[in-house]
Amino acid sequence: MAGLVLKDIAKTFGSVRAVERVDLTFAEGELTALLGPSGCGKTTLLRMIAGLEEPSSGRILLAGQDITARPAHRRKFGMVFQNFALFPHLSVRENVAYSLTIAGMGRADAWARADGLLDLVQLQGFGDRRIGALSGGQRQRVAIARALAQEPDVFLLDEPMSALDAKLREEMQVELRLLQQRLGITTIVVTHDQREAMTMADRIVVMSNGRVEQAGSPHDIYHRPVNAFVADFIGRANFFDAVAGPEGLRLGDVTLATGQPPNFTAGRPVRIAIRPEMAALDAAQADNVLPARVTFVRDLGPVRDIHLDTAIGPMIVEYALGEDAPAYAVGQQVPVRLPPDALHVFPADAAPLAAE
Ligand code: ATP
Repeated sequence: MAGLVLKDIAKTFGSVRAVERVDLTFAEGELTALLGPSGCGKTTLLRMIAGLEEPSSGRILLAGQDITARPAHRRKFGMVFQNFALFPHLSVRENVAYSLTIAGMGRADAWARADGLLDLVQLQGFGDRRIGALSGGQRQRVAIARALAQEPDVFLLDEPMSALDAKLREEMQVELRLLQQRLGITTIVVTHDQREAMTMADRIVVMSNGRVEQAGSPHDIYHRPVNAFVADFIGRANFFDAVAGPEGLRLGDVTLATGQPPNFTAGRPVRIAIRPEMAALDAAQADNVLPARVTFVRDLGPVRDIHLDTAIGPMIVEYALGEDAPAYAVGQQVPVRLPPDALHVFPADAAPLAAE
């Protein structure tokens, strides 16, 4: 019922093209994360969905109805902002009940509904508290309860965790996701944090420069990036320049086999990527093995990074640290294998790579 469709949506501010020709469908009950670097247009897109910003062109449909010209207060969308925007002079209960009393609900009913919502977000007994007497996580729960008060068709959140410290942020991501699944509410979350997007989302929309680079499940986005920008922005990747040939990928004197169907005409420059954890240092198989020398070792707790110098350039290999994980020393010679199926091959002239 509450699926949302964006058709060819664009927004320009003077000469700035903040959002360009975006087509997206948000399925009912799904949580979608809009993810991308600063300035890529995700907040502008969310504000257009909320009705807080008018699109320069395109249409927005809710359950098949065109709502492009419908003002924000008539959209029945719940919003949680980065700073929560709570009313400091009202109690927790009054904050949650605010939109209900404004809409004409009697105080007793509004307060009863507010108390029910406070239970839902695990703030039982906090109704009489002042906002100033709450922790960051509790404030966020109040903001969520308030946004849910009017049983919105769509729930919109703009960087909802950014005011919280790292540990609390992770807890709240899980909590928010479980709540969203329980309520089955169509939800869109703007974030620049890929872990946050991967923790919460059914679907991630990766944006850059006002455009959608890829939309897909967290698994697809990570394992099947459609271009070098996505491969670089989500997770880590080693990149190499190569030339496609009939026999494989040519990198100077080295030829690598690839599991990807050869979509590229021979002689075409390509960019190859491999995730650090997909390269193997126990080169048991013979194909795609390169001699390498260890230049740096970094222990990161659960995993170890080995920096290598190879004939095709520097690369990082990551492996999990189990009890019998091998140790490598700087200067050691160690063959590295790049499994053909783990190599992503992109056209070299695709979108520019994201800055880390
Ligand atoms: P961030 O993560 O930094 O919030 P974002 O991806 O949400 O970034 P937007 O805030 O949507 O990006 O901005 C997209 C582009 O539009 C930026 O170049 C920004 O400077 C520009 N922009 C946004 N709002 C306005 C405005 N009201 N007037 C002029 N330019 C704007």
